[in-house]
Amino acid sequence: MSTLLCEHVQKYKIDKGLTTYRIIQAYFVACVSISARKKKAADAYCRECKTRGNRIHACLSCVYFGCFDYGHMRKHALADNHDVSVDIKNGNIFCYKCGDYTYDEDFENIAIQYKKQAGRAKGSEINFPWEPKQYEIQVLKENNGFKKISEDSCIGNQLKFSCSQIKYLVSL
Ligand SMILES: [Zn+2]
Ligand SMILES: [Zn+2]
Ligand SMILES: [Zn+2]
Repeated sequence: MSTLLCEHVQKYKIDKGLTTYRIIQAYFVACVSISARKKKAADAYCRECKTRGNRIHACLSCVYFGCFDYGHMRKHALADNHDVSVDIKNGNIFCYKCGDYTYDEDFENIAIQYKKQAGRAKGSEINFPWEPKQYEIQVLKENNGFKKISEDSCIGNQLKFSCSQIKYLVSL
């Protein structure tokens, strides 16, 4: 693995943040719960040749799945300028502009965090700290829409609201 800092990964983090990587870690790499494993079984195949082996990578820009070995992930990355992808087997970050795996401390820390949680959650459906949910609640609080929404008590359900739904709800 390359130890050089990749400028494309740095740019990706500035543009898109770390949320997509967290979700991919939770559902596909660490597989933190039973529903995560089901999702992985259903979704983790190459969209072009349908293989489930051959090093499936997920695009960190749009969560497209493609295999590494037959170049389908590469084809997607170059066609759409989605340089940064993640190997769902081990969470390693691959940059197609550099043509190499790259180390990044932020991604690495997330990987370690989810690995620990997956160990604790083995075989059970426990609630792990879901970062977007905390973020979502923060968004609701900041927009004073929290009280209105809490009346129908949906907030406890993970992923009940997508970001666009929240924007809609807080604008009511
Ligand atoms: Zn393929
Ligand atoms: Zn993509
Ligand atoms: Zn790069």
